[in-house]
Amino acid sequence: MPVLTRRDSSADTARLQALRGVVRAGAEDRPGVYRMVTETGEVAYVGKSKRLRSRLLSYFRAEYPAEKSARIVREAHEISWHYTPSEFAALREELRLIKSLRPRLNVAQKRDARNQCFVRLTGGRAPRLTVVRGTGASERGGVYYGPFVGAAHLREALRELSIALGLRDCTLDGKMHFADQMDLIQLPARTPGCLRFEIGTCLGPCVGAATARVYGQRVREAREFLEGASDKPLSRLDQAMREASGRMEYERAGILRDRMQRLEALVARFSRLRFAVESLSFVYLVPGHEGEDRCYVVRRGVVRHEQQTPQTPEEWRALEQRVRDVFRAHELAAGAVPAHEVDELLLLTSWFTTRPEELDATVPPQALGGT
Ligand code: SF4
Repeated sequence: MPVLTRRDSSADTARLQALRGVVRAGAEDRPGVYRMVTETGEVAYVGKSKRLRSRLLSYFRAEYPAEKSARIVREAHEISWHYTPSEFAALREELRLIKSLRPRLNVAQKRDARNQCFVRLTGGRAPRLTVVRGTGASERGGVYYGPFVGAAHLREALRELSIALGLRDCTLDGKMHFADQMDLIQLPARTPGCLRFEIGTCLGPCVGAATARVYGQRVREAREFLEGASDKPLSRLDQAMREASGRMEYERAGILRDRMQRLEALVARFSRLRFAVESLSFVYLVPGHEGEDRCYVVRRGVVRHEQQTPQTPEEWRALEQRVRDVFRAHELAAGAVPAHEVDELLLLTSWFTTRPEELDATVPPQALGGT
């Protein structure tokens, strides 16, 4: 069996043959999720497939022992599975299991999100803006904006925004002190040796150079800017540019103009993002295996309600009420994504981007009572 290495014993061969026998005898070719369980009972891997039986049998046909599927199945002492109504349902179930079980060998979500990044506004005493991959967002917390493709330009633009607002961009988390909260901690009046503090582009929460109120106000301005509710950072730069021009400091005025252009490009990107995420709002009707049809009420790229597709006028009316409830519920400002919704937003974005024909199975919320 090519799945095995030379070090594997005849007992390993027998175990894998027995596992293959279990799959052959019991697995059907329909959508579902599966778990690879080790000798100690650890769920080492979770996967999904549109055709479960074919997918599971393919593990035993890996051509080289070093292949990922061979490595996964070599660890398995048990393979368990359950069926789902559709591939879409399997994908969501796989995500749920990966989040709850955290299987050691799973890299599926990382793979899907390789090119996707988010802007993250961190929590903590002195929040900062950073660019991160979407995976693991629920453990990190904070507020997210995305997904975007292309981290490099985003990083550059965020740096401009941080400079324009005096927000920190360092990783000194946990060492922040505000001028109005220093009764217990006396810091020497010194700079941290950070160039940004020296040239006045950071408010300096690492040395208690700003009050919590002023820093918090700048964080709010950053949020409002990213959410399209304020253009204060641009106004500040515009004013500074005019003043520099007035003083005939044309080189500085040119630098400020370039900064403004980078921020304007960021504004345009966020505006496109808000539109894209907002347009992922609909009722998605998914035909299921042997009539297990499901419908999903999706708002801003996240499933807010799921149920069997209605069959009677009464059931449709009940669904309309659910749609109304979902679309009336309070949400963060447009474009902002709570950390716990990042993985699902990535999943749905990827699903509808790679299968645009699935949008034909969606119904605008307005058609079912949403606003
Ligand atoms: S001045 Fe302090 S808080 Fe600001 S970026 Fe530098 S080290 Fe970080």
